[in-house]
Amino acid sequence: MTRVFSGIKPTGHLTLGNYLGAMRRWAAVDQHRSDALFCVVDLHALTVDHDPARVRRLSRQAATLLLASGLDPELCTVFVQSHVDEHARLSYVLECVATDGEMRRMIQYREKAAREQRRGGSVRLSLLTYPVLMAADILAYGAEEVPVGDDQAQHVELTRDLAVRFNQRYGQAFVVPRATHPKVAARVMNLQEPTSKMGKSDDTGPGIVYLLDEPDVVRKKVMRAVTDSGREVVYDREARPGVANLLEILAACTGGSPEALGGAYASYGALKRDTAEAVVEVLRPVRERHAELCADPGHVEKVLREGAERARGMARPTVDAAYRAIGL
Ligand code: ADP
Repeated sequence: MTRVFSGIKPTGHLTLGNYLGAMRRWAAVDQHRSDALFCVVDLHALTVDHDPARVRRLSRQAATLLLASGLDPELCTVFVQSHVDEHARLSYVLECVATDGEMRRMIQYREKAAREQRRGGSVRLSLLTYPVLMAADILAYGAEEVPVGDDQAQHVELTRDLAVRFNQRYGQAFVVPRATHPKVAARVMNLQEPTSKMGKSDDTGPGIVYLLDEPDVVRKKVMRAVTDSGREVVYDREARPGVANLLEILAACTGGSPEALGGAYASYGALKRDTAEAVVEVLRPVRERHAELCADPGHVEKVLREGAERARGMARPTVDAAYRAIGL
């Protein structure tokens, strides 16, 4: 069995980007072929300005949506990061092999720190060390594969570097993991700003499709997606990012290839209509299962409690071994 780990941050409502880039594959593929753990990484939600009650609410919602997207606790482990102390324990040790310079080079840190500064806020130290905690999330479980959208590629690369460095300095303690990305929709873009990623923590609501949006809201957002002044539907990410994004979303929802789908449409309007319907259909079962799960909060609670227990059992021996190796 291949050990797989991946996570989702409760910093906002989950988006179509989260679903197509990551969650859908976790449910369809990863949980069936591997010994997999999926985690609501709530500690990571504290790296930027946050409201405690909202983080708690969003954590619960994210866990419910993981189950609604088809994760089955009989097949995989679903849990909340802060319920398992090993993440924070290991993170500190990894901070002792990471360098300040490599943290400051992380693209997401630079972008998010710049955004905080533009808003006049201060940058939390945890935003800088976030990728180390992420490395701890992965390495604590000996994960071999990390299924993520391609915005996380750099962080998984850093995780590999830290694992190799630790193993070389202190003896073999960690499995060196690798990222896997979906073939299409590895980076779903904002519908209003197709050169930026559709990110749940952004404030640009009209360009973001949320998993729990009503069908009519989804239709409206897709129909209003920014394209360009051309007429011909062709797949060209550089020159026509808006149209390319719609083609990728449609391809991810229907199983075709974005290039081939491009040739099949005579107008942007027709492409938008089919994309909107495809998204509505893909999200329908998720919304339905989410409603069912909300009616039974005790079930989600139980899954998370048992998941944390299982996760703790898996992480503890690895983290204990790392502590011994580094001299504690
Ligand atoms: P966000 O950027 O929305 O806060 P997270 O950091 O919680 O997302 O990421 C959860 C998973 O969703 C990761 O695997 C990430 O790569 C993936 N993901 C997030 N946004 C997108 C996107 N726009 N397109 C594809 N995958 C995405």
